[in-house]
Amino acid sequence: GEALAVSARVAPLGSRLVLLLVEDLTEARRIEAVRRDFVANVSHELKTPTGALSLLSEAVMDASDDPEAVTRFAGRMQIEATRLTNLVQELIDLSRVQNDDPLEDSESVRVDELVAEAIDRSRQPASTKQITMASGGTADLHVWGNRGQLAAALGNLVENAVNYSPARTRVGIAAHRVSATGGDLIEIAVTDQGIGISEKDRERIFERFYRVDPARSRATGGTGLGLAIVKHVAASHGGEVTVWSSEGQGSTFTLRLPEAGAGRDRTSTGPDED
Ligand code: ADP
Repeated sequence: GEALAVSARVAPLGSRLVLLLVEDLTEARRIEAVRRDFVANVSHELKTPTGALSLLSEAVMDASDDPEAVTRFAGRMQIEATRLTNLVQELIDLSRVQNDDPLEDSESVRVDELVAEAIDRSRQPASTKQITMASGGTADLHVWGNRGQLAAALGNLVENAVNYSPARTRVGIAAHRVSATGGDLIEIAVTDQGIGISEKDRERIFERFYRVDPARSRATGGTGLGLAIVKHVAASHGGEVTVWSSEGQGSTFTLRLPEAGAGRDRTSTGPDED
């Protein structure tokens, strides 16, 4: 406001430009703050497992005459090493979805294949918790996009559904076509009967590193990056991801993606020519 008032006095014709400049600076400052936060978060998240590893390796050395203790410490080192590997992998995935243009490498992708892959990825933790996974409506549906990115996005949603649900519950994946102004969309909804997410948290869970319960997330190998990746993939494909939830009852995450063939040639790799 002040800068604008000064500039209005000094150069009335330039006030519009100055306003744009001020807005630009505010945006640049916001981006810089987000970047700084991200680096601080990454550093903190890396320090937790590396710090634990360093303490545990000291403990192993001190316990060299107690084989049982050595085995116990080694087991914990393995958990921390896995955590570190997961975090680095998710950071790589996030940077990849942020930097690669998915449409450069887009193709028609079968929804039933995406769903089968996502279910497969979570099969082990689901069977440990006796969670049943079922899907429906996926036959004959095709989405347009980068197969690897779409698989990562849906895989994350199913993984979360399993992670944040109690034993002996059900995870359902349902797909169908919906009409939209810019062409048909495919909706893929992942529904769980899990812990749910409060309204306040629903606004923030798509932020990088935001977790409702960091201890619970870490215990299940979570990094807090999964939904940020899903959101980015959805947006860069011209789609979106939304959440519905009732605390204590469960959640539904819905991924909406452009349908292959709806104004997009299923076989061509270039842009439309009409
Ligand atoms: P994380 O690696 O912690 O799972 P995500 O970015 O995938 O990170 O999710 C962020 C947070 O959102 C989770 O820590 C959890 O608190 C919450 N969340 C995500 N999916 C679900 C779900 N299906 N049910 C309940 N809470 C969820």
